[in-house]
Amino acid sequence: MLTGAGMSTESGLPDYRSAPKGMWRGIDLLQLASVEALLQNTENFYKFYKKRIVDLNEVTHHVGHEILAKWEKKSIIRSAITQNVDGFHANAGSRTVYELHGTLQKCHCHNCLREYSNTELLEGIHPYSMWRSD
Ligand SMILES: [Zn+2]
Repeated sequence: MLTGAGMSTESGLPDYRSAPKGMWRGIDLLQLASVEALLQNTENFYKFYKKRIVDLNEVTHHVGHEILAKWEKKSIIRSAITQNVDGFHANAGSRTVYELHGTLQKCHCHNCLREYSNTELLEGIHPYSMWRSD
């Protein structure tokens, strides 16, 4: 089963790609969602991702995610393949999830290669100034 942005927006997550609003109006967000942005536009990269993580942590999966998890348990489907980065398929109980664009549930430091939860990033346990590898 392949899922996309509609699953996330149904949970209440903003669709940053199609309608940048507020502080992001007029900014090409795809320019912020890259390793190049992390290295060259670090402050805006972190502002963008911190906002996305805060938004993510305020909502949760919905009944659609739960139905797909039940279908997997009943072998109606084998997996959830998603473009979404919210981690909601796994949160709802899906066991085999392919996250094509990664996840916002965890992060890893380019410098020390350690993995952190998104809340650890928000809490500054490993300051983002340490994440750059240059
Ligand atoms: Zn590090």
